[in-house]
Amino acid sequence: MSYETVPCILCNTYNFKPLFSKPSENGHLFTLVQCRHCGLEFVNPRPLYNEMHKYYKEYFSRRTDRGYNNYFSESMHREVLRLLMLNLQDLHFYDFENSLKGKKYALDIGCAAGYFVDYLKQRGWYAEGIDIAQDCIEYAQHSLGLDAYCGDFLSFQFNKRFHCITLWATIEHLHHPDRFIEKIYTLLHDNGMLYLSTCRSSMFSARMLYGRKWRYYNFPHHLYFFSYRTLAKLLQLKGFTITRFITYGSGIGKPGTVVRTLADTLAKRLYLGDMMLIAARKVV
Ligand SMILES: [Zn+2]
Repeated sequence: MSYETVPCILCNTYNFKPLFSKPSENGHLFTLVQCRHCGLEFVNPRPLYNEMHKYYKEYFSRRTDRGYNNYFSESMHREVLRLLMLNLQDLHFYDFENSLKGKKYALDIGCAAGYFVDYLKQRGWYAEGIDIAQDCIEYAQHSLGLDAYCGDFLSFQFNKRFHCITLWATIEHLHHPDRFIEKIYTLLHDNGMLYLSTCRSSMFSARMLYGRKWRYYNFPHHLYFFSYRTLAKLLQLKGFTITRFITYGSGIGKPGTVVRTLADTLAKRLYLGDMMLIAARKVV
């Protein structure tokens, strides 16, 4: 295995303090660091990009506490859509959609099996997706008949611009969130929208309650842990203005229990959730 040590993507400095170390599923030890200037948390050092596939084997098809239990099942499809539709409502996505005239183009980065691309297509969008996971893209292409590409977003050549680009639970996986946001800016139409979700590292969320056992600290699948402040800084640096911010998810109690439902409701109401949703407009 080869590793690299990287500077903070917000400050471009190597001035960070280690927070703690935790092993990956296959026993490799990774350290979470925090930038002393801006507070951004990231795994450092980390595996080289071209070695990441070793950690992603069966990520979408095997039952583990880290990946997904058969992402291609009908029940998972329904659950993913249910959550996405809640998110879209919270983000005022449908107002944006209604404001668009003529053909509407969308791109979903990290589209997995293409469920969101499929949803938009059914709503009349010209939607496409991209993901590095071969098994997911094959499913999207052959089972759902979608325009989905297997490849690296940063090196992929797109021949059009989009009104809407989405990054659902994707930015925390990336080696270069900053370059992704830069490229998204160039691919969006003027006043186009970026919608994203990611886990929220904050003093006031389940992350504080659980410490290193927090459900999203799975290294090295997740490499970047943003707070609202650090994510807002990244988006502003790259030319976006945030129009909506919501948190959800408590991580407290078992799924399906009254405790979980209550905790989730409170977390959302009080902006204490350990997931966050952001809508950001391209500023020209
Ligand atoms: Zn920094």
